[in-house]
Amino acid sequence: MWKRIIYSILGIATVVVIVMIYNAMQFESLQLQEYPDSYVYDFDEDAAIERFAESLSYETVSREPGEVDEEAFEAFHEFLEASFPNVFGQLEVELVNDFSLLIRWEGVDTELDPLVLLAHQDVVPVESPDAWSHPPFAGEVVDGIVWGRGAVDNKNGVMGILEAVEIMLEEDFQPERTVKLAFGHDEEVGGMYGARKIADLLEERGVEPEFVLDEGGYITEGELPVERPVAVVGTAEKGILSLELVVSGRGGHSSMPPRQTAIGILSEAIYNLENNPFPASVSGAARDLFRYVGPEMSFAERVILSNLWLTEPVVIRMFEDSPASNAMLRTTAAPTMMQGSDKDNILPSEAKMVVNFRIMPGETIESVKEYVRRTIDDDRIEIRDHREYAFDPSPVSEAGTDQFDLVHQTIRQIYPDIYVAPFLMVAATDSRHFVELSDHVYRFTPADLNENEAEGFHAVDEQLRAEVYLRMIRFYQQLILNV
Ligand SMILES: [Zn+2]
Repeated sequence: MWKRIIYSILGIATVVVIVMIYNAMQFESLQLQEYPDSYVYDFDEDAAIERFAESLSYETVSREPGEVDEEAFEAFHEFLEASFPNVFGQLEVELVNDFSLLIRWEGVDTELDPLVLLAHQDVVPVESPDAWSHPPFAGEVVDGIVWGRGAVDNKNGVMGILEAVEIMLEEDFQPERTVKLAFGHDEEVGGMYGARKIADLLEERGVEPEFVLDEGGYITEGELPVERPVAVVGTAEKGILSLELVVSGRGGHSSMPPRQTAIGILSEAIYNLENNPFPASVSGAARDLFRYVGPEMSFAERVILSNLWLTEPVVIRMFEDSPASNAMLRTTAAPTMMQGSDKDNILPSEAKMVVNFRIMPGETIESVKEYVRRTIDDDRIEIRDHREYAFDPSPVSEAGTDQFDLVHQTIRQIYPDIYVAPFLMVAATDSRHFVELSDHVYRFTPADLNENEAEGFHAVDEQLRAEVYLRMIRFYQQLILNV
């Protein structure tokens, strides 16, 4: 009897091990092995760097949805027109909602669906200019580094794309496929007046982009256990929702507090949310990431990542400790604001907390609200929307399609010694407004950012090496050539 049980356990274990090793051996590399060398036009690099630096001196700051610093944007547009005479002289340039730019470069074959390149003109405010090593709106270039607000987010995109198109127009090049450039003016505050309007306009005109490329992932080194830097291309984006948890009607003097105060009730709610995190899974774009980088890892890691049917819980354990990778696996909840009374001896008549959620593809605004209600399970707490807008997560654009492979190839042509992989963007971009127009929406900034540059998003000392910016211009040229 016992013998039989032991034998069958051993038998099952052997089969599992064989299957796992078999899967690991079948786990083939998805990195492109063969592709043509890069063949882009040469250009005056110093002049391009100078224009890029100057673009950072325009204070196109977004503060609130619907509020526009008109003078700054008008001046910026004048600068663009003067800098790119071919683009503004030869192509159809439209102002959408006064400040967003939609530029159409007609292709040889107008039957082909267009390529849409997105970037945004606006930047986030500068909180403490004195903390910067170089002034945030001076556009200084020092020792090959371009300093200023917008250097990585996202005037590098606007200027890099325009520079590429200008160079190609100068060479009398016409793309095979129509190319559209869409530069919103309020991405940093939701994009409802810029990119949203452009997307609506394109939809009205029946435009169905072949694919859409926006800012997003970039080339990083050392974040994943592989030998080369990895270019991560966002194939999906998390949704955003902010909820207010409100407890009211419990004011009074602090000398006679009730057993549980309004703030106590809210604290318990947060305690419950933090101790019951949303369910985690390795799915969608996160799964695609492992499928693309997994084969480039050591054998032991390949065995684990090629057998997610069995190892998923282990993988989740491995990754959920780091906030960055945890965010790829589940919807996250972050309490960000809390309000009680104004006086130390008065109980708040209303206590309020705002929790910001980043929603995993597969879930929805409604399913998150339902989860919060169930987890808090306290009818003394009213749950309200904090903002007028909330966004469901994007659909996942499939990796390995012709469109994805074309982006993959272009990246490798400019950066030969790296790996390319899809991934889930946990931050928001303007591309979310375009997901109804195309099944192929990618979020990738063609830049190999070092640590200082990667830390510059929305932060002090935003900067970009000039050489990286030049590679971005080559990438956009190559992409237009490839499509
Ligand atoms: Zn941005």
